Amino acid sequence: MFKRLALIGIGLIGSSISHAARRAGLVGDIVGCAIAPETRARAEELGLVRKAYADPVDAVKGADLVILCTPVGAYKKIAEAIGPHLEPGAIISDVGSVKAAPINDIAPHIPAGVHFIAGHPIAGTEQSGPDAGFAELFDGRWCILTPTDAADPAALAKLEEFWRKLGSNVEIMTPEHHDMVLAITSHVPHLIAYNIVNTAAHLERVTDSEVIKFSAGGFRDFTRIAASDPVMWRDVFLNNKDAVLEMLGRFAEDLTALQRAIRFADGDTLQRLFTEARAIRREVIQAGQDTAQPDFGRTAARAKDK
Ligand code: NAP
Repeated sequence: MFKRLALIGIGLIGSSISHAARRAGLVGDIVGCAIAPETRARAEELGLVRKAYADPVDAVKGADLVILCTPVGAYKKIAEAIGPHLEPGAIISDVGSVKAAPINDIAPHIPAGVHFIAGHPIAGTEQSGPDAGFAELFDGRWCILTPTDAADPAALAKLEEFWRKLGSNVEIMTPEHHDMVLAITSHVPHLIAYNIVNTAAHLERVTDSEVIKFSAGGFRDFTRIAASDPVMWRDVFLNNKDAVLEMLGRFAEDLTALQRAIRFADGDTLQRLFTEARAIRREVIQAGQDTAQPDFGRTAARAKDK
């Protein structure tokens, strides 16, 4: 589909795109860009890219598809630098977890004749770096594209096809709606995880070693999410401020209702709210977005290891 793909950022998402694009035979050549010399050396060693450059300008030369796979806070400087060097007719996209503000950082630097269509694959893990990627990451997951009204229909159709061939389902929405949906499905859950882990770490009457020792009671599932990359998540909250604050307001109201139910021993309310929440878990599984195996499949994995 493309003669040369340039991945700006070769971490979990960049390396997974490389694996999945190779699996489906979508690109002739893949080059990349990363800051750390170790990342560049490792990306070449793993065969994720033919060549990893320190300067994004070198990476985009001759590329007909460019995908920004860095934390969104880096976009503005990268777009400023690469804008004048993008190939006429090329498609430039991204994978950032926030859309409206990062699009505003990129769009002014894209020359006429280059097609900018932002995107976000709703797939990931808590791991980072070039070793973290795998070809199956996007299989059966959704990729949201957020084209502007001015987007070229042929370029949009080509990018949609690219993501389908990487294994994803594709949905189109506005950047603002994306940011609202992701605030509640991803950003606030991460904030809650970061917060509960830190709350537990700062207790005086329960020791850190007790928190860790007895974490199978539920705490450990939050630690997985809270192990996500701090720079990426810093940038998410700096760039999706309004939607996150709105959803946090709703969350705080609902938390207060739960607090009241506990204080006044209102068992009926607690049971009703927990029953409603349980039904959502069943819907997530029915939609193929998680495994139905108990304990997230850990029990089965342990049995297999023995
Ligand atoms: P990651 O594993 O930490 O990788 C980030 C990569 O970007 C690294 O190769 C890093 O290079 C490079 N980088 C950072 N700043 C750069 C700059 N100024 N110029 C060039 N390269 C730069 O991160 P990730 O998880 O793949 O996330 C990348 C993007 O995907 C983020 O925007 C995130 O919001 C989005 N996303 C993440 C997930 C997820 O679950 N992780 C899911 C969907 C979307 P060095 O190694 O040299 O620092």
